[in-house]
Amino acid sequence: MFLSPEQKAANELVLGWMREAGLVAHVDAIGNCVGRYEGESAGLPCLMLGSHLDTVRDAGKYDGMLGVIVAIEVVAALHAQKKRLPFAVEVVGFGDEEGVRFGATLLGSRAVAGTFDLGLLDKVDAQGVSLRDALRSFGLDPRQIAGVARRPKDLLAYAEVHIEQGPVLEAEGLALGVVTAINGGNRFNAEVTGMAGHAGTVPMRLRRDALAAAAECVLAAERIAGALHNIVATVGRIEALPGAMNVIPGCARFSLDVRAPTDDTRRSALTAIRAEFDAIAARRNVRLTLEPLWEAKTAPCAPALQEQLAAAIAAEGLRVHHLPSGAGHDGMAIVEIAPIGMLFIRCKDGVSHNPAEAITLDDVHAGARAFARFVENFAPPPRS
Ligand SMILES: [Zn+2]
Repeated sequence: MFLSPEQKAANELVLGWMREAGLVAHVDAIGNCVGRYEGESAGLPCLMLGSHLDTVRDAGKYDGMLGVIVAIEVVAALHAQKKRLPFAVEVVGFGDEEGVRFGATLLGSRAVAGTFDLGLLDKVDAQGVSLRDALRSFGLDPRQIAGVARRPKDLLAYAEVHIEQGPVLEAEGLALGVVTAINGGNRFNAEVTGMAGHAGTVPMRLRRDALAAAAECVLAAERIAGALHNIVATVGRIEALPGAMNVIPGCARFSLDVRAPTDDTRRSALTAIRAEFDAIAARRNVRLTLEPLWEAKTAPCAPALQEQLAAAIAAEGLRVHHLPSGAGHDGMAIVEIAPIGMLFIRCKDGVSHNPAEAITLDDVHAGARAFARFVENFAPPPRS
């Protein structure tokens, strides 16, 4: 958990590993572990590698941490060969990506991107401790957070290794994949209002059953997303009111989560889903409202970085597969200041955020070798 005693211990461990690998390392004002390996001359712009060191409750071992360790290992290999590159390499272990403690995600990477909202310092955790006080008790100075921000010209690109957290690579029989984009998404609360009534006395043709209408909406969202490429739509929660066995539901509430690898496809899927919901509501003579809760834009991976990662995978003798990331990652913040790229490593059954999260050593070796090759051959992508 962000700014916990466990994170303090993890930071000490990671700083030690960074220094052993030849990086000059420190903890920045938001609690990120940052290590720098200079290029052929001091002060060159850097290729930033990294992932996050925090995790969720009852988590697995690899979400986040694996990407930090692979990045350190890549630099350790350069250092062992006394090899310097025409750019600096930095490794960052972001202090907060998951947002578990303060309910706001990507705190570490947003500080680096210069998009950290200082108003968040007043947010409190479940114990009533503010982010400001938690940073101070951790030995950090919240007034220095603005200084964590990097200038776009100092950052050539950001690249991250992460477990897939999904089942696609396993189904393809592949250890590695190139990420095309970190999916954008929308979340809504939907509410259907019909008419409650006696389950025994109201004939079927006179009913305005809110739950039956909601059920039709659930299936419509599933059908519309299923017919489109790479769109996912999920209703993860539904309730009926008043919620009695012998009462026709007068009200139904459900959640809707829609994600897609491009903003255009996401918007067109949403338009189709809304139109179908409206048609269902009209036909069933119920009222349906969709309250927007959250929206995140797609973070596209730079085509040039995708090509370079694909070339590195192919050079390892592996088939290249491209896939979008359905989960969020630090790149969503860093994309504001630099082109981003991601390499996924297969995980068992696609399970993540769970102690059963598992990977194989062979897959990690393949990932680390491909990532090292990518770093050594890295060419800065054009900036848009
Ligand atoms: Zn993660």
